Amino acid sequence: MNKVYIGLGSNLNNPVEQLEGALNALSNLPEIKELTFSNFYSSKPVGPQDQPNFVNAVALFSTTLTPIALLDTLQSIEQAHNRIRERHWGPRTLDLDILLFNDETLSLPRLTVPHPHMLERGFVIQPLADITPGMLLSNDKTVEEHLHCLNTTDLVCL
Ligand code: AMP
Repeated sequence: MNKVYIGLGSNLNNPVEQLEGALNALSNLPEIKELTFSNFYSSKPVGPQDQPNFVNAVALFSTTLTPIALLDTLQSIEQAHNRIRERHWGPRTLDLDILLFNDETLSLPRLTVPHPHMLERGFVIQPLADITPGMLLSNDKTVEEHLHCLNTTDLVCL
C-alpha cells in the first residue's frame, strides 16, 4: 500500500461542503483505505484578493493506486464538483493536490511530487501538522518546526 498525503482547497459554492464531498468520495473508493484528515482552515486567497476566502485541509490515506492513477482519480473528483478555473490563482470550487507519495520524488509531465509549493504554504503545513507534526520534510525540519517559520496569522481553524 502507498501512503499518500493530499491537500484539499476550495473557495466557491460552500467550500466546507466541497471538502466534505471530496473526502466522502475518496472514502468510498475501494482502492483507498485508512482515510484520516486534518481540521479545516480558512485563509485569505493567495494572489488576487477580490475573491472569497479559501478553506483548506490535508488528508492522509493508504492506496493501491499508482501516482498517475491517483492524479486521474483526484482530477475526476474535481470535475465532478464542477471545478471552475477562470484564471491562474483565481477562485475554484475544488482543488486536490498530491503533496507526498510515500517518500518518492517524481518529476513527470503531469505530476511533481513532493508538491513544489507545499513548504511555502501555511494552509498546507498547518493542517499537515494536525496529522503528523513529527514527520521530516525535504528541508530536514519536522512539520512542526517548519510551521514556526511560516506566517499563519490569517489562518482560522473552523
Ligand atoms: P492547478 O490547476 O494549479 O491545481 O494545477 C493542476 C495541474 O497541475 C494538473 O494539470 C496536474 O497535472 C499538475 N500537477 C503537477 N503536480 C501535481 C501534484 N503534485 N498534484 C496535483 N496536480 C499536479
